Amino acid sequence: MQTKEEATDVLVIGGGTAGFGAAVAAGRQGLRVTLIEATTKIGGVMAFCPGMPWGGGYPQDQIIGGLIEELTELLAAMDPPAAEKRACTLENFGPEIIYDHDLATLTMFEMLQEAGVRVRLGAMALEPVMAGDRIARVRCCDRNGAFEVVPKIVIDCSGDGDISAKAGVPYVLGDASGNMMAVTISFHMLGVDWEAAFADPDPYFEAYAARGVAEGRLHPDLAKLYLMRGFHPGTVFCNSVHVRGVDGTDPVAVAAATQEGRRRCHQLAQFLRSDVPGFAAAHMAMLSPTVGVRETRKLQGVYRVTGQDLARATKFPDGIVACDNPIDDVMRSDGDMTHEAAIAKGSYYTIPFRSLLPARIKNLMFAGRILCADPVAFASVRGMPQCMAMGQATGTAAGLALREGVAVQDVRIEALVASLAAQGINRLTVPNTQPNAA
Ligand SMILES: Cc1cc2nc3c(=O)[nH]c(=O)nc-3n(C[C@H](O)[C@H](O)[C@H](O)COP(=O)(O)OP(=O)(O)OC[C@H]3O[C@@H](n4cnc5c(N)ncnc54)[C@H](O)[C@@H]3O)c2cc1C
Repeated sequence: MQTKEEATDVLVIGGGTAGFGAAVAAGRQGLRVTLIEATTKIGGVMAFCPGMPWGGGYPQDQIIGGLIEELTELLAAMDPPAAEKRACTLENFGPEIIYDHDLATLTMFEMLQEAGVRVRLGAMALEPVMAGDRIARVRCCDRNGAFEVVPKIVIDCSGDGDISAKAGVPYVLGDASGNMMAVTISFHMLGVDWEAAFADPDPYFEAYAARGVAEGRLHPDLAKLYLMRGFHPGTVFCNSVHVRGVDGTDPVAVAAATQEGRRRCHQLAQFLRSDVPGFAAAHMAMLSPTVGVRETRKLQGVYRVTGQDLARATKFPDGIVACDNPIDDVMRSDGDMTHEAAIAKGSYYTIPFRSLLPARIKNLMFAGRILCADPVAFASVRGMPQCMAMGQATGTAAGLALREGVAVQDVRIEALVASLAAQGINRLTVPNTQPNAA
């Protein structure tokens, strides 16, 4: 039997925040776009850790703009509002966007539909078929069996970069020693007395946690409990259970970490009820369906963003989004959690388009947490608003490349940056002008 084929202009692999940005941006330019997502939901890590705030969206207290701003405004305009800007309680983090998770994913899906994107959930991209320095087709499967997508351009937003790696793009896994940040299982507590729970200003509840760890009721990695007010009153988002040393590209390791993480979440929920003020009548909900993976492959791009670029507050000529996130490094096998400032307070840097481009393959781009960055820069750039904007940049670049009939590496940077600025992305250095502030 012949394998089914689907021709498309742009194939977006992965429906996380980066894939959402890429697919909407490409679809809005009238391109035929197919989005392949392995799970049954849009959002990626955002769906695996429901309710996680969109952080890093406000360098110099001005929203980065583009699709994240549009999405936030759509949610905030609902009755009752489904998103709001709030201060983060952790050091060096700017304000973040807190939102109703279900309405956010519903709205993202609607935006994909309005952009005409063909969304294929429950479908896996398996391997590329190369024709010289181009990806000619991508072998995929879903419950009905194998099919092939024949794309003009591929945008890998899969977080892990399996297809790019199989296409021959060099990569590093984790840091220089192959050490990756911990994976995390999150949950909510519902029915919390906020006033009692947050009477103590320590965002990590360390005094309580110390007792739980000392008495063997909490895992030793729970010495800091990150608990924050959820979007809805009386809800608390718990982003505390980290499992170290897990290779997020290994499904067996991910499944084992998911179960281990859930066990620790259950213990923690019991501990909160018994030991922490305000939680006595609360219960656990919205447990992650799988661990949230922070870091796996970092693909080799035309340019590698470095910690030094951040420290110098570099504004690249091909910068596609502003960022001021701290160096948010989370529990590598030998490390703790760090939130050191990446740049001087009140400043920002931009992420260059070249960090989303492979050197050799002419019709491939990547966006989101697989971008080309050193471990320090990676720990800063990886916020969801920036991932969405990286996606938006690649989707826009796909339109330019196809209209002009050029390789993605030859897209005119002036045209790309001008188009992103016209789409509302703030603080870009539009050629021959000053940085574009709203
Ligand atoms: C626990 C945790 C806490 C975090 N906290 C915050 C925070 O508070 N604020 C913030 O802004 N950011 C936070 N981050 C960072 C941020 O969530 C991620 O960097 C970002 O979501 C990555 O988006 P992405 O689209 O690049 O990748 P992902 O979200 O990983 O999405 C990739 C998608 O691709 C799909 N996929 C993978 N392979 C294939 C394939 N072969 N075929 C089809 N589909 C495939 C996956 O199913 C997934 O849906 C956190 C991350 C984690 C893990």
